[in-house]
Amino acid sequence: MPIYEYKCDICGQVFEKLIFSSGDEKKTLCPKCGDKKVRRLMSATGILGTSCAKAPRGFS
Ligand SMILES: [Zn+2]
Repeated sequence: MPIYEYKCDICGQVFEKLIFSSGDEKKTLCPKCGDKKVRRLMSATGILGTSCAKAPRGFS
């Protein structure tokens, strides 16, 4: 199950949410102000970690 990082458009709060299904994503609310105007950030914390810092070997 992916953990997505979200940012609230209203208060700027950044939070992570575990998504079980596509329906969960539509129900995502800001934990701080409760607004649903949140946007998903590109980074997926807890999945990529620091491994993306390594360059793939043999790839030029
Ligand atoms: Zn908020």
